[in-house]
Amino acid sequence: MTVLTSPPFAWPDGTLDVRRVVQCALSRVCGGCGQSLGRPIAFLGTPDEVARNAFHAPPLHQECASQLRNTVAVGHTVVLTAGFEFIRPSAGAVEKRPIFVPNSIL
Ligand SMILES: [Zn+2]
Repeated sequence: MTVLTSPPFAWPDGTLDVRRVVQCALSRVCGGCGQSLGRPIAFLGTPDEVARNAFHAPPLHQECASQLRNTVAVGHTVVLTAGFEFIRPSAGAVEKRPIFVPNSIL
């Protein structure tokens, strides 16, 4: 049973905090509750992010992802995966946010 923290771990002021996102990626903790991730891993994405299979929100527990759709990610789709790649922006890149690429969609 996972319990979403309020505010969610990676959205401390209601918007996504990049440092927390990086922490979630490197420590493999959930962006909703801050606890260790198991499987499956859930990502929340806009239709565009789902189409590109590239997400900006951190990895989440499935349950936390479902709850976040009621608050910070209204209208987003939940995608489940067994694993992901974490891509940090390169120096000078237009896109400054890290990107998550699920690599085995369930
Ligand atoms: Zn969680």
